[in-house]
Amino acid sequence: MTNFSTLDFAPELLAVLSELGYNEMTPIQAQALPPLLAGSDIIGQSKTGSGKTAAFTLPILNKLDVENRQLQAMILCPTRELAAQVTSEIRKLGRKIEGLKVVALTGGQPGREQAEALSNGAHIAVGTPGRVLDHIDRARIELSNIQTLVLDEADKMLEMGFAEELKAIIKELPQKRQTALFSATFQESILDLTRRYQKNPQHITIEEGTEATAQIQQVVYECAADEKANTLMRILQQHPANSTIIFCNTKIAVNELLEKISEQDVSCASLHGDLEQRERDRVMTLFRNGSYRILIATDVAARGLDIENLELVVNYDLPAQAETYLHRIGRTGRAGKSGTAVVIADKRDALKVMELEKIASAKFEKPSLGFKNQFGLSKSLRTSVMQTLSISGGRKDKLRPGDILGALTSEGSKLTAGDIGKIEIQDKYSYVAISSQYAKSAFEKLRDGKIKGRKFQIKIVSE
Ligand code: ADP
Ligand code: MG
Repeated sequence: MTNFSTLDFAPELLAVLSELGYNEMTPIQAQALPPLLAGSDIIGQSKTGSGKTAAFTLPILNKLDVENRQLQAMILCPTRELAAQVTSEIRKLGRKIEGLKVVALTGGQPGREQAEALSNGAHIAVGTPGRVLDHIDRARIELSNIQTLVLDEADKMLEMGFAEELKAIIKELPQKRQTALFSATFQESILDLTRRYQKNPQHITIEEGTEATAQIQQVVYECAADEKANTLMRILQQHPANSTIIFCNTKIAVNELLEKISEQDVSCASLHGDLEQRERDRVMTLFRNGSYRILIATDVAARGLDIENLELVVNYDLPAQAETYLHRIGRTGRAGKSGTAVVIADKRDALKVMELEKIASAKFEKPSLGFKNQFGLSKSLRTSVMQTLSISGGRKDKLRPGDILGALTSEGSKLTAGDIGKIEIQDKYSYVAISSQYAKSAFEKLRDGKIKGRKFQIKIVSE
């Protein structure tokens, strides 16, 4: 009963789902899709990585009228990264719907191009509240045909102070519409949103269940407050992983650690709210495709980001709220893979650690940490698994992953498809990950050759 074909989806959506290997609905999808397809409002809660995006996207795509070149759905997200992630999931799921136009309305990008995309007839808009409101204020967006509104990570949007913007946006939307709201918590302010903007919403909560964290080894290392950085280095020595996220509570801590870890020639990068959008996108692309082993991040910047194959999550600072711990560690041990979550704690933090154990329904292991290796971080951390090439062309140049793959593996190439990692096509740029040992020859191949009969500028961006 959890097969997508038990629901009334258009054949082109079922075809994409099967191509993507989405064989079974996730629990939130199994519960949210039927009411959403029936036109009901819902309020949903389930952990990060549980497939909420497809849960709200599939019903939107299923009822979309492509011939009608008017905006039919609006999705609001707290951050630009989340909006970018949702946009790309919609494009992926909608790739067999010919003529589908999705526009991202977020800051850090020229508003004029977005306005143009809107006036050329976008069907679905995904945006952050500030920028969407800006388009509304400038009368650059036609809202009268919107049938579905999604508030993704609604609690985060409120936490970031977007309540007034949300109110101002929703006031402009048609009264008769479907509203889906997702939130990690059901606190009073969320229930207030629900009362104001939803009609008889169905509440759907997917309990965390112990199996969710069963794949994750949870460990706590105690140390004195001024020994945290050293302890972290020893942890990285003892748990050498291909992909690690280190969570800090402040930008200052992020920057200090970035400096300390880069000093050891380890491939790492940072993510926090003050970085420019292009830099944030670049960091996420390179971390996801294996070009950075370590990402040092604040919660705000990393919240909700979907990262595959994360092996190690380090809580360098204890999260201010216990639920945040679940968000942080929910990124590892996914889809049957195992992962490790580490907490660094001061002896005085014992109570807080107990609180984390309670919310994770687990007892943390307390192994002792080996001595610090005098040679610094392990050599394996110094080389990244992959390197990234950038190509000065993207969706606007009609480049597709197959074109890049073709150019890389064409006649006389040493490369095989197995040496090539993620290919990400953005509007004006594309990124392709290559096994580190072949990065240079791949670079030369693209630099000296053509893609789709055209010359592009190629760079190795991950060094
Ligand atoms: P959430 O919004 O709940 O944090 P996402 O929507 O970002 O989660 O989904 C997490 C990952 O799971 C994505 O990589 C997505 O492509 C994948 N996914 C979603 N639904 C399915 C499914 N039914 N089967 C397999 N993978 C899925
Ligand atoms: Mg999400």
